[in-house]
Formats: sequence, C-alpha cells, structure tokens
Amino acid sequence: MVHHRQILPLTIVTTVTLVTAFKIFTELQMLAVSGLTKVFGGFTAVNGVSFEVKQGEILGLIGPNGSGKSTTFNLIAGALAPSAGSIRFLGREISNWPPFRVAHAGVGRTFQVPRPFRRLSIIENVALAAYYGQADRPTREQAFSQAKEILDLVRLRAEPGSRVDGLGAAGLKKLELARALATQPKLLLADESLGGLDEQEMNQAADLLAEIRKQRGITIVWVEHIMGALMRVVDRCVVLDHGEVIAQGKPEVVAHDPRVIEVYLGTDAKDVQATVAARSG
Ligand code: ADP
Ligand code: MG
Repeated sequence: MVHHRQILPLTIVTTVTLVTAFKIFTELQMLAVSGLTKVFGGFTAVNGVSFEVKQGEILGLIGPNGSGKSTTFNLIAGALAPSAGSIRFLGREISNWPPFRVAHAGVGRTFQVPRPFRRLSIIENVALAAYYGQADRPTREQAFSQAKEILDLVRLRAEPGSRVDGLGAAGLKKLELARALATQPKLLLADESLGGLDEQEMNQAADLLAEIRKQRGITIVWVEHIMGALMRVVDRCVVLDHGEVIAQGKPEVVAHDPRVIEVYLGTDAKDVQATVAARSG
C-alpha cells in the first residue's frame, strides 16, 4: 500500500526520472564521424573530419564546391573506403562495411546526380528500392504500398502509368528522395544539390525535408552548397573547406563566423544571416 503522503515524493521522483530518460533519448547519438580522411592518389579530399549527428536532428553539411561533402557521404554510405578515421552508426563501427550492409543497417542516401531507371514507372522505381533496400525484405505488394505512401509524402504521382521521363529537375530530385526513403532509413543522407531549382523550389525542398523528419522521425544530414534554403530548416551545421571542418554549430553562430564568411559566404552573408534571423523569429 502506498500511503497518500508518499505519493508526492514518488511523483517527483518518477517525473525527474522520466525527464532525464527523455533528455538522454533525445540527445542520443546516431552517427559519430571521427578523424575521417580520404586520399585520392596524392590528393586529400577529406582531411580529419569529425562531427556527430544526434537522433532526430537535421544537420547541414555545407561548404564550397569541391570541399569534400559528397566524398564524406560516400565514405559514410560505404561507397568509398576511408584512408583513416572511424564512422560509428548507432554504436557500431561501419567504416569498412559494403554499401548494401550500411543501407540495411538504416542509412539511406540520395545521389547528387539522380539516377532513376528510366524505363520503369515512377512507382516501380520507388518499389524496387523498397524491395531491395530493407534488411527485412517486404513482399511485392508491401513494397508497392510503401512506395505509394512515400510518393504521397513527397507529392509525386503514384499511378502505374506515370513515367520518369515527364519529370523536371525538381521532380527528379523528389524521386531520388523517395527512393532513399523507400529503404526505410533511420538516417537519411540527402545530397540535395539544389542547383537547377528556382528559389521557390529550393524552399519547398527544404520544407519537405522538415516534414519528413516530423512525420517519420528520420534523422537527416543534408549536403548543400546553397546555404539560404538549408538555413531555413537545419538545427546545426558543419562547414567544410578543402576537406576540413572550419566551423560547426547553430545556424545563427555559423552564419556570423568570420572564417565562414571569408571563405564561403562572401557577399551572401547578409542574406543568409537574414534567413536565420527570420527563422528564429
Ligand atoms: P563537394 O561534394 O563538396 O563539391 P567532393 O567531395 O565531390 O566535393 O570532392 C572533393 C574533392 O575531391 C574535389 O577536389 C574532387 O575533385 C575530388 N574527388 C572526388 N572524388 C574523387 C575521385 N574519385 N578521385 C579523385 N578525386 C576526387
Ligand atoms: Mg558534391
């Protein structure tokens, strides 16, 4: 029997425990990259890169063209083997795993250049990714029903007759995103590269990633060299230059970082700072 005078302290203890557990859960580390290095011939494309991704966050991986963003993604996704360093995903070292094993463990990725199967319909492309990209292989019907759900989420046509050929740049990027989502990832590596989209399309792409996180609870790392759209939705950013991390932190800090402004933002600094300010109200 719990006496009624014991209920208040009991409630307090329970509340404190729950709040602590929740904090630990929300701070849970999903990905930890440490000292990651990739040398191509004599050229070091990624040089001692370290950063962490927390469960549920949207992290922006940004930097000028050629700064090592896509190479970093290829290393995490297992498409390239690192020259040095460690990659831990949900506590396991994955740095020498083949791509399919990384995908089956819960890392989904999009490619900077979309590469759909052009002879298949839109929904067939996505269903194929659902079928082969998950550790527990779905049935054909399940793969198609998962594909339909995802196409609704990214707002692409799911009718059997809808072809890839009719898609423009924005549509192809959505299809690429849908194929990555079809593997039911816990962590999505989105190499969005919004080049080729107009400003409204870029902002829609940013909002879509925020919606995906909200609806599906997926943690996202977003690679982009156009900083404005990305700054609408990221919780934190890591800035690369010549393969090295030159800054990381919250958008409001990074957008005012003198080195980031010097090597990267230049005359865009004011616009990017305004985007960040508008966001935080
Ligand atoms: P970003 O995605 O930031 O634009 P990348 O990661 O694609 O940059 O490339 C970083 C640097 O590494 C560039 O100088 C690029 O030319 C070089 N690089 C990328 N992949 C290879 C490769 N397979 N072989 C040789 N050099 C490469
Ligand atoms: Mg790239």
